Amino acid sequence: MVEYNKVTDEVVKKLVAICGEKYVTDSEPLRYSYMARGIMGLEAVLPEVVIRPANTEEVRKILMVANDNLSPVTPAAGGLSGGFALPAIEPGGILMDMTRMNKMEVDTENRVMIVEPGVRCGDAWRIFKKKWPEWAPPIPDGAPPGATILGDAIERGFSLVTGRYGPQADMIMGLEIVLPSGEMFRTGSWALDGAKAFYRWGVGPNPDGLFLGSQGSMGIITKAAVKIVPHPHFKTIVAYGGDSWEHIIEPAWAIGKYEMGISDNTVMVQGGNWPLVMTRWPKSNVPLDYKFYEKIGIDEYWMNSEVWAHSQEELDFTLKRIDEIYKDYEVKKKTVCKQQQLHPKQIASRLKKPNLIAVPYGLYEAGFLFITWYCPWLESSKMMEEYCAAMENYGFPPTMWVASIDHARQAIVMPILCFDSSKPGIYDKIREFNIETTKSFLKQGWINYRPDPFVHAPLTFSKSKDYYRMLVKFRKVLDPNLILHPGRLAIPWASVTDSPSPLEGE
Ligand SMILES: Cc1cc2nc3c(=O)[nH]c(=O)nc-3n(C[C@H](O)[C@H](O)[C@H](O)COP(=O)(O)OP(=O)(O)OC[C@H]3O[C@@H](n4cnc5c(N)ncnc54)[C@H](O)[C@@H]3O)c2cc1C
Repeated sequence: MVEYNKVTDEVVKKLVAICGEKYVTDSEPLRYSYMARGIMGLEAVLPEVVIRPANTEEVRKILMVANDNLSPVTPAAGGLSGGFALPAIEPGGILMDMTRMNKMEVDTENRVMIVEPGVRCGDAWRIFKKKWPEWAPPIPDGAPPGATILGDAIERGFSLVTGRYGPQADMIMGLEIVLPSGEMFRTGSWALDGAKAFYRWGVGPNPDGLFLGSQGSMGIITKAAVKIVPHPHFKTIVAYGGDSWEHIIEPAWAIGKYEMGISDNTVMVQGGNWPLVMTRWPKSNVPLDYKFYEKIGIDEYWMNSEVWAHSQEELDFTLKRIDEIYKDYEVKKKTVCKQQQLHPKQIASRLKKPNLIAVPYGLYEAGFLFITWYCPWLESSKMMEEYCAAMENYGFPPTMWVASIDHARQAIVMPILCFDSSKPGIYDKIREFNIETTKSFLKQGWINYRPDPFVHAPLTFSKSKDYYRMLVKFRKVLDPNLILHPGRLAIPWASVTDSPSPLEGE
């Protein structure tokens, strides 16, 4: 069992000597402001101290102090990835708030931006709109403006161009990393003194994947080079409905296969079911029956395609081909996939970035939680059917969202659990729901992408023991005392579960 130490006054003094008094606090109300269990942070505990470094050198010194004292360190950027990735969990320790490090450089010639961890999506979008309107930073499509570009890449999230370019981690061209030993290095071509971050895989085997998806447990990233993408201005949203998950998933797959063609223009393809609309309002103020939503023209299921094109002609061609593919599908499957009549205001609000569309789920019953899974695109209908049935069984509205990753190669499936966070026993209920669905989904070969340390991570690694063994070895090279975000990715194992460890007997 790994033993951690409390953050003593002595340690706080050392931290103050690094960043200055103004940027280190153990004030209880301020520490509480870093955890919110109702919104996404089910297992959050209070950090013992919060520190806000200004630069890489300060990060390095903080890590060395923490390593000497065996104090856990949780890095936080925008703090919006929620319960499954961010908050400090037992044993608390030092929360490193990275938001003061917010420099951004843009190189349109090499189509890359260099961001520090505190560069917020809303700011990047606003600045690009003004200074580089022909280019777009890959910001998460629906996250609040305070979420960061780097936080989303570390999470391997879905950006506004994920349908075309893949998960946000695929946009990385290089990372600058600091380890608890105080060592620093860069990945990709950036590792060569003076070189630009123009080639992700040089100068040798590239270890950046160890940090993307690590939930801050492998090293602290102090800079990232991220691809920027063209931002053509002929844009719209089209939506088609259906009477089942299959009838929205299959035609989107038929479109997705037109890579190097119209599917490159459908930058974001996302869909859902009618409760996705209902739960964006306070529960006591909305009809809870589909009939109402049917009357106002909302299909039971639908899929949106956000289309970006370089000319009106290209946009019209793409829309025409999308429509033809749906019509062919209707004939083949003897079904109806009605084109949805979107109000110009609906189109405008979807095209607006960051679009804030996911923020109101807190209104329904105060608490909400996104749980996210990846599966092969065509298997997502089955997953969503099973998920919705389980949600109803557990008394949650079956609010479900799905999006295409990389031309409908994979689906990101996301139930949104809306719950009353003041209800006794609600967190246990969510946990049971999570255990039941996770066990079933893992059996079917599907993967959770933002693993909860107490449920998803141990259950997943129990079924991928060889991988877990290697992961722990890599982790010990980078962070021998396991001070970084302990518990995340089920390392150390015993801190999150009583189940038999994949390392048992070693
Ligand atoms: C309403 C809402 C809508 C959302 N919509 C989307 C969406 O459309 N697309 C999407 O992808 N996500 C979405 N999210 C999830 C989340 O907002 C994004 O993934 C977000 O970009 C995470 O960034 P952050 O700055 O909040 O990261 P944080 O939560 O601060 O951090 C993310 C993870 O990285 C670690 N970390 C942070 N900084 C560092 C560092 N410098 N070095 C090492 N590790 C670090 C943290 O410990 C944590 O594990 C949404 C969330 C909410 C609440």
